[in-house]
Amino acid sequence: MAGQAKVKIASLSPLLADLARQVGGDKVTVVDLIGTTGSPHSFQPTTQTMKEASGAHLYLASGKGLEPYLPKLKSLIGDSALVLEVGKNIRSLEISNNSGVYVCCPNHSHGIIDPHWWHSIENWRKATSVLADHLIKIDPANKAHYKATSMAYREQLSQTHSWAKTQVATIPKSARLLATAHAAFGYFCKDYKFKSIPLRGVNSEQASSPQYLAEAIATLQKSDVKAIFPDESSNPKALLTVSKASGVKLAPKIYSDSHASIIGMFQHNVTTITQALK
Ligand SMILES: [Zn+2]
Ligand SMILES: [Zn+2]
Repeated sequence: MAGQAKVKIASLSPLLADLARQVGGDKVTVVDLIGTTGSPHSFQPTTQTMKEASGAHLYLASGKGLEPYLPKLKSLIGDSALVLEVGKNIRSLEISNNSGVYVCCPNHSHGIIDPHWWHSIENWRKATSVLADHLIKIDPANKAHYKATSMAYREQLSQTHSWAKTQVATIPKSARLLATAHAAFGYFCKDYKFKSIPLRGVNSEQASSPQYLAEAIATLQKSDVKAIFPDESSNPKALLTVSKASGVKLAPKIYSDSHASIIGMFQHNVTTITQALK
């Protein structure tokens, strides 16, 4: 980096784009390649994406197997930029029969790691430091800036976590059952002590088969779940069928993968979950 040039960051997740803006401030330009209307589960880089990202110093990926196209992307970029898998050294939750962690979609059905690490504030605090360290390497002249912004943001994240804990505390322990249309909340459930109940066949990433719907209805009927939470990838028709047949109400939607703000996503999800379950 020379002179006043800004660091160009190309992000493969809208949440990581927010992190880049929080830590980078006015020293970086951020290109959000997927955007809040896209899904990281189905995204594939195109010629258009590569054009938008052209000249980037740093690519941000979630890692943990979320982006099966990364080897191809790396070969296209070559040595011109670093591809940072932000989640790589952040703790993982493993998918297994009794861990309460589930497979999310066909793209990840062969993995044993749940890629949705971003539903934990503690993980974002680590991610903030990981990104700041890399920005300092790329742009050492602005070290003091990145140190200050990352410290301030880690503090904001801590405050959000404390707030979330006080909110969740208003839900009786027996009601902390999180039934979702997408198996994305394992990390959230672990942090805030919910039991995760992902329903199969009710989001657009999975085929909606009569067998899945029957299973979802049976699961809901034998639990004390108070509400089902749709998200940005839900299949509204399948969810309505399951809700009617089980008698469990549909709550307003929560966000799994795509939101313009990390803290905004937590505020929305925690508020929505608390309102529906307390
Ligand atoms: Zn997935
Ligand atoms: Zn997801």
